[in-house]
Amino acid sequence: PKGKTGGTNGAAVIERPCYVAGKPIVSDNILEVRSPYDQRLVGTVKLANAAHVEEAIETALKGGQKLSRYERYSILEKTRQLLTERKEEFAQVISAESGLAITEARYETGRAHDVLMFAAIESLKDDGQIFSCDISPSGKARKIFTLREPLSLAVCITPFNHPLNQVVHKIAPAIAVGTPVILKPSEKTPLTAIKLVELMYEAGLPHYMLSVLLGPTKEIAEPLVKDNRVEIVSFTGSVAVGKHIAAAAGYKKVILELGGNDPLIIMEDADLDKAVFLAAEGSFRNSGQRCTAVKRILVHEKIKDAFIEKFVPKAKEYICGDPADEKTKVGTVIDEAAAIYLETVVKKAIEQGAKVILDGKRKGALFGPTVIVDVPRNAEMIVHESFGPLAPIVTFKDIDDAIALSNSTAYGLSSGVVTNNMEYALRFVKELKVGTVNINEVPGYRIESSPFGGVKDSGLGVKEGVIEAMKCFTYVKTFSMPW
Ligand code: NAD
Repeated sequence: PKGKTGGTNGAAVIERPCYVAGKPIVSDNILEVRSPYDQRLVGTVKLANAAHVEEAIETALKGGQKLSRYERYSILEKTRQLLTERKEEFAQVISAESGLAITEARYETGRAHDVLMFAAIESLKDDGQIFSCDISPSGKARKIFTLREPLSLAVCITPFNHPLNQVVHKIAPAIAVGTPVILKPSEKTPLTAIKLVELMYEAGLPHYMLSVLLGPTKEIAEPLVKDNRVEIVSFTGSVAVGKHIAAAAGYKKVILELGGNDPLIIMEDADLDKAVFLAAEGSFRNSGQRCTAVKRILVHEKIKDAFIEKFVPKAKEYICGDPADEKTKVGTVIDEAAAIYLETVVKKAIEQGAKVILDGKRKGALFGPTVIVDVPRNAEMIVHESFGPLAPIVTFKDIDDAIALSNSTAYGLSSGVVTNNMEYALRFVKELKVGTVNINEVPGYRIESSPFGGVKDSGLGVKEGVIEAMKCFTYVKTFSMPW
């Protein structure tokens, strides 16, 4: 590969293979991973081919040492310890390959830590149920018991926006229940994913339990999705790819965690400082690239001016620049094409009458916090997900209007509402067609073990989060006995 020096910051180029059940693959097909910030070569990955897909499936199904609950716990706990020791190393790789600010990358390692901790704890628990059968007039003196069996093979496909956390949210719950995984991480951020896989091998995970494959979609991801020997495809990514996978997967379990267009709804009684803080955190953290980022700020018309007056100076605090700089709050978006797309949707909104009151001024893949007012309800940035630090502000006249506006898009992931009025809060909880309603919090608020996932185009209502994801990777068997 070209540019072996690693470019401006002098870090060594990270050279990694894909792994088929612990075995590094040999390949001349190399993916170069470049920094979205300065295009320096961050690393290379040896890409897999169709034969590796076949080998990974066969090895996983052949299996090996079956892990006890205690062994699964120990592997996850050891991975957590190793990650804690190497969290700075992980943060540096996340930031280098994704362009996310180093402070955000460090935050992400903390989230991954929690996922591993909860998965380890949950792996020790048994959620079996017992049903006594003598509870109806025709009942018998029997009991029905439930137990969970691991699925024989999972394919997990992940996006770029949290290079570590999205991956660990799939692998850790699968390992916690004993289901082998073939991981297909994003080609935009493969290095962090491969590092995590190596960490799990080091923590003692039997190799048949995990492979990581990257390569052309037609050769790797699509055959994996279609293969009849795969029992579950767990996918996080865009709506378009998610729907394509749903159609291609055939007769198997499919978990879809797709895009979002989450509102922050600010009622007229809202604590303004809280609203301003939540709007900024929700819109700009992680360069606005979270499925649950605030993508629409819906403000009651009575307080619009007061909100904007405080929000613009707040938005300016989110300094955009070199991801490696400790002072940077907003790094790049994933690549220049993504930044150009954001620029285009802003231009289109302006043509429809919107006004930019804080301009993010694109430079390469850098795109700073951008605040736009008077945005029409049919603007592209309101109707569709825009994955970046855009903060479009739309007003509403009352709670009915706010609910209708919030529910007007095809998405239904999460939402945040700023109010101290209990009647309002309860109506939003009941009437928003979304997977989550957070009162006086950003839409993205969660803990890693709580149920998480959307409805409508954002997902099929099947939740992830460590506990729910563990259920996804198993099937329930019942057995009954005379009692
Ligand atoms: P993407 O859909 O472009 O890619 C996701 C993954 O799918 C990648 O690994 C990609 O290589 C793979 N892929 C692409 N085409 C495929 C195909 N035909 N068959 C199988 N796999 C294929 O998404 P992205 O741009 O990496 O991520 C951003 C999107 O992810 C946003 O829409 C965001 O909202 C969404 N997201 C959702 C959640 C959630 O939990 N709901 C979380 C994070 C991100």
